[in-house]
Amino acid sequence: MGTTSTPRIAVVGAGLGGAAAAALLQQAGFKVDVYEQSAEFSRLGAGIHMGPNVMKVFRRLGIEDRLNQMGSHPDFWFSRDGQTGDYMSRIPLGEFARKEYGASYITVHRGDLHALQIDSIQEDTVHFGKRLESVDDSGDDVNLTFSDGTSVRADIVIGADGINSKIREVLLGQEEPTYSGWVAHRALITGDKLAKYDLKFEDCVKWWTEDRHMMVYYTTGKRDEYYYVTGVPHPELDFEGSFVDSSREEMFAAFEGYHPTVQALIESTDSVTKWPLKNRNPLPLWSQGRLVLLGDACHPMKPHMAQGAGMAIEDAAMLTRCLQETGLSDYRTAFELYEANRKERASRVQQVSNDNTWLRTQEDPAWVYGYDLYEQSLKSGNPV
Ligand code: FAD
Repeated sequence: MGTTSTPRIAVVGAGLGGAAAAALLQQAGFKVDVYEQSAEFSRLGAGIHMGPNVMKVFRRLGIEDRLNQMGSHPDFWFSRDGQTGDYMSRIPLGEFARKEYGASYITVHRGDLHALQIDSIQEDTVHFGKRLESVDDSGDDVNLTFSDGTSVRADIVIGADGINSKIREVLLGQEEPTYSGWVAHRALITGDKLAKYDLKFEDCVKWWTEDRHMMVYYTTGKRDEYYYVTGVPHPELDFEGSFVDSSREEMFAAFEGYHPTVQALIESTDSVTKWPLKNRNPLPLWSQGRLVLLGDACHPMKPHMAQGAGMAIEDAAMLTRCLQETGLSDYRTAFELYEANRKERASRVQQVSNDNTWLRTQEDPAWVYGYDLYEQSLKSGNPV
């Protein structure tokens, strides 16, 4: 494929951030293609929270109603002592969130959300099986070469390629992310397994002790699928890959002494995976030349605030706003604006998420959930 005369944008990575960027930019009238290394996406066993700040972006994309139908709508985020069950915080969500923050707070299956996002991208513009291998920014345009030997040219390239981003590597050199010393276990439990217990399984609850936790919530509005995700210290990274199988035995050992509700969840677990939690320090730059980063490629974090994808999606929305403001030909100004209007918020969320303090005690989450990206006046940026 050669250079086309129509200016166009290449998004590398069709994760939650890249998919949002592609759909929002297309909606704004830009010509966009997405290149994703996976051959297809499967419904991996994991849930995800989407706060009102993100739902406002999905409103713009036209998928808010469908997500509201799909997801579970917890009335509260509860934090509870993992052993005694005492409540440490009760953060109002539900109707309160809709009134105070301007949109719902939902928990949903990650694969269902992702499928909906992919569907919102124009047909034939998501290219699967395209693993980016090299990038050449000539100054006039960018040439991307994929592992299947094909190449494409684009006017600008958005690196939405996650924590091991190739685009980040081009901008900043090769550097492995740091291992945080924590792992996350993830498991889905069908609702019928829980019926036999005389216990209350709350819509959204985080069980905490000093050095570990288990976050639990429903992934469907029908409450037929319950999900837990943990944070457990695991000092040595003694396995490879983005996840490995764990076991019920490992879970019982990690959560010994925890509340009977947590024990019931472990007992009801058929399969559980274990994910190393990786990280990077805030990056010194977000763009260079015709290349720009978003989401985990730019500011990965430990997932304890349930806002990593939220920040990727907010990035996508802000980058779209900035490109609309300047036009594609003045992408340099757009990138400056983008960084100026994202860095502070994304870095703050990254810090709080890494600290794992979010909503442990009664605090006001309005600065995260009340944020409406489309209501922000744009701060001017510094030349990048
Ligand atoms: P990714 O989702 O990593 O997507 C990157 C994409 O790029 C992938 O599809 C990948 O295949 C593709 N790619 C990579 N390299 C290449 C290449 N060379 N060529 C082509 N394609 C490539 N966030 C929340 O908001 N709420 C939550 O509740 C939440 N819970 C979490 C729980 C856990 C245990 C973890 C680990 C994370 C959680 N997160 C949560 C964080 C969230 O998953 C990430 O922040 C989010 O997925 C980042 O999106 P992204 O699009 O930037 O990157």
